[in-house]
Amino acid sequence: MLIVGAGPTGLVLALWLTRFGVRVRIIDKLATSGTTSRALAVQARTLEYYQQMGLAQAVVDRGHRVPALNLWVRHNQAARIPLENLGQGLTPFPFPIIFPQDEHETLLIDRLREVGVEIERLAELVAFEDLGGEIRATVRKGGVLDTGAYAYLAGCDGARSRVREVLGSGFPGGTYDHLFYVADVEAAGPPMNGELHVDLDDADFLAIFPLSRDGRARLIGSVRDDAARDHEHLQFDDVRGRAVQNLQVEIRRVNWFSTYRVHHRVAQQFRKGRAFLLGDAAHIHSPVGGQGMNTGIGDAVNLAWKLAAALEHSSSAALLDSYEVERIAFARRLVATTDQAFTAVISSSAWARFVRTKVVPALAPGLFRMPALRRFMFRTVSQTALHYRDSPLSEGSTGTLRGGDRLPWVSTGSDGAFNFAALAAMNWQMHVYGAPEPGLQALSDRRGIPLHVFAWQAAMKQAGLRRNAVYLVRPDGYIALGDTLGRAAAISAYLDKNKIKPATENQ
Ligand SMILES: Cc1cc2nc3c(=O)[nH]c(=O)nc-3n(C[C@H](O)[C@H](O)[C@H](O)COP(=O)(O)OP(=O)(O)OC[C@H]3O[C@@H](n4cnc5c(N)ncnc54)[C@H](O)[C@@H]3O)c2cc1C
Repeated sequence: MLIVGAGPTGLVLALWLTRFGVRVRIIDKLATSGTTSRALAVQARTLEYYQQMGLAQAVVDRGHRVPALNLWVRHNQAARIPLENLGQGLTPFPFPIIFPQDEHETLLIDRLREVGVEIERLAELVAFEDLGGEIRATVRKGGVLDTGAYAYLAGCDGARSRVREVLGSGFPGGTYDHLFYVADVEAAGPPMNGELHVDLDDADFLAIFPLSRDGRARLIGSVRDDAARDHEHLQFDDVRGRAVQNLQVEIRRVNWFSTYRVHHRVAQQFRKGRAFLLGDAAHIHSPVGGQGMNTGIGDAVNLAWKLAAALEHSSSAALLDSYEVERIAFARRLVATTDQAFTAVISSSAWARFVRTKVVPALAPGLFRMPALRRFMFRTVSQTALHYRDSPLSEGSTGTLRGGDRLPWVSTGSDGAFNFAALAAMNWQMHVYGAPEPGLQALSDRRGIPLHVFAWQAAMKQAGLRRNAVYLVRPDGYIALGDTLGRAAAISAYLDKNKIKPATENQ
């Protein structure tokens, strides 16, 4: 299995596949991993995947929890919206967390090394061919071309993907006119309090993300059109005025400064034969909401168990078809919603300015006190609302919960135990909340698919679970099938139809 690209997407794919016992070769054309902070937000759904791998605690310990969002209008702090525990009761990780991408990649690389996988650096994929039964790929390393055979190829090679180019999969979409800058700074002043600050003043945009509590922060702002014309020579000094004047930030040191244009594109295909596109190679969009890197990681988790199954039991190859169906649908929705949000944030129309500077600061604090709205916002941004209901792998419903939904996170007793503990096995499994139908245990023994039975609690109903129903749960924590009557026959029929066999783990 060849993984092209050792950004967050390729690294997570390599880690997951290794856990399933798949031998991977992961290459990157660069000499080192990224040294700049880039993607900051690690969403709750990503942390839930990481919890399955025993990685989440390290991110929580090293990351920075963001306690609140502050809105500034015309030099004044207009609103403060607490974010701590925004998703209370929905996930083990109910808070927004910031963990710069360079540190994040280092953590993933260290974990890979611990399981015996080294990234091959200065190794560039130059070409490949799908021969039907295998992929023949050519890698340039130290000026030498080497061609080898692989069962599958994963293009995790970023926005300018060579894999996408060779596949001939278009990358339709567009590029916004605005030029943006990012600056990692050390600074003092009111916004350096470890919270998130957004200046809503006029047509420009400025946000300050805390990198830590000790005065390190990321500034993201739009560059005025006159300055943008000469962006090749743009320096931080050309754009610093806004933060200094409006938010009273005293800049002491600039550690990184860069400008970029924002694109919104989704590849026409995420799979062709034995080659796959994941992460920025498959979709790019505005950074509003901190979704990009997390979506790439979600692609990797979605594909890893399917690839492992296909490699282990060739009969499971049909599972691979669901990768594109499930992930392209989400990528398209994401690009559309981030596009709307981004356009509202950067629009210079009088109406948009009125909404930004008057309506949002006046209404946002009140709206964020409404439990239903807090819940909706959290579920959307954290990607815990992401579902695969339209996937060919998703079947059945037990009331509000349907096949394709993320398994709800619930307490399973008074001893601090939760149902997600079972997901650490990263295998197909059955869950019953209440009493199981007698045939389920026999089915479990016969098929090698564990059955987890949890004593019924009132909170389970609130989470949408149905008493005595059976849920067949995929290795990535999504419900494949929900059967209200808890029938072993329903599970059995699903397993046969989709040729599901338990995976062999490499623990
Ligand atoms: C300035 C900046 C700020 C950003 N801010 C945010 C943010 O705030 N929030 C957010 O969510 N995202 C942000 N992003 C985007 C985020 O960094 C990406 O979404 C994320 O890195 C995508 O990960 P990836 O692994 O898919 O691709 P990448 O991180 O791009 O990794 C691709 C890897 O493939 C390698 N590669 C490419 N071609 C080849 C080849 N032919 N052979 C071998 N190796 C190859 C590259 O060297 C690279 O290491 C930002 C990006 C930039 C540049």
